[in-house]
Amino acid sequence: MADVENVIIIGSGPAGYTAALYTSRANLNPLVIEGFMWGGLLQQTTEVENYPGFPGGGIAGPELMQKLRDQAEDFGTRFLTDQATSVKLASEPGGIHEVHVGKDVYKTRTVLLSMGAEHKKLGVPGEAELAGAGISYCATCDAAFFKDQVIMVVGGGDSALEEAMFLAKFGRKVLLVHRRDEFRASKIMESRARAMDNIEFKTPYVVEEFHAGDGPFKRIARLKKTGSDEIEDVEIGGAFIAIGHEPQSEIVDGVIETDAEGYVKVEGRSTRTNVPGVFAAGDLVDHTYRQAITAAGSGCQAALDAEWYLRDTPQIETPPSLAEGDLAEAQWAPAK
Ligand code: NAP
Repeated sequence: MADVENVIIIGSGPAGYTAALYTSRANLNPLVIEGFMWGGLLQQTTEVENYPGFPGGGIAGPELMQKLRDQAEDFGTRFLTDQATSVKLASEPGGIHEVHVGKDVYKTRTVLLSMGAEHKKLGVPGEAELAGAGISYCATCDAAFFKDQVIMVVGGGDSALEEAMFLAKFGRKVLLVHRRDEFRASKIMESRARAMDNIEFKTPYVVEEFHAGDGPFKRIARLKKTGSDEIEDVEIGGAFIAIGHEPQSEIVDGVIETDAEGYVKVEGRSTRTNVPGVFAAGDLVDHTYRQAITAAGSGCQAALDAEWYLRDTPQIETPPSLAEGDLAEAQWAPAK
């Protein structure tokens, strides 16, 4: 282990592993603190059909992540399969940052944050108990388990409507439960979903609780009409919760600038955070696109931003590989 690392990457989805690939190819010997469940949300998916380069049906999510990890390892990336617990960041350009993993402290000149996002939970009784056993957060992963059943989808954004339309191809009926009569989703998505015979809109309702019913494919969702005391128990095969995502930014809470929803803020089109030498990429930053390929692309940007920072910050002795390299000019002026 180096006394002071050039690059520590926290997180191991497509953004983290792509950043590792680029920085290891630049001979910066990156260390990835990848968590215990490395690979991010793609580990929970089956086929990924929209990651370029895999014709003929795509590639399984876990296999894609293994390949990204292997490719970074080919160039010397080191991995720590553990959880970063906190960070202590220097505020001056060229300062040494600390990443804490339990009692161990890792010092580094740059930190690349790519902890991703998690599916938001409803937080109602029964949800956690039935997760993976009737309650899911990923239609593409689990739709096939609910063939010919009544499937509930909770949410009113584009994700919920997209999932409802996808699930309508598997289930006998989809019950779309949303807490308001108006939808946050785009009009076109809403009208497409309304045009499907086997999607029923159930608004304005909230889920109060889930519990197991009689039989292996029976779950009960207790619904309450928004703004009234009206309660209804609905028998379903399963439920998909699609109420948005939550960035995994806890370890930088109060240390790095985030927006009201906890997404790490970056400057313009760069991956620079408000702390010199700290960069952020992937779903941790991205409200909108949240695709494997866009996360990978921003991981590449974070790697290049870190390389420029290491090369161009006057307080840092440029790593030899960057001094000799043909790295393009930074599109931004380093902090003096
Ligand atoms: P979103 O737009 O934030 O929508 C979340 C939905 O869940 C909202 O309708 C919200 O209700 C509801 N919700 C949030 N917390 C809730 C709670 N505790 N209980 C009940 N309902 C709750 O999230 P998203 O649908 O995941 O979309 C995120 C972004 O990705 C958007 O920009 C979207 O356009 C984009 N996206 C695009 C596509 C596409 O174009 N094909 C597909 C998927 C996602 P309220 O409306 O009442 O707040």
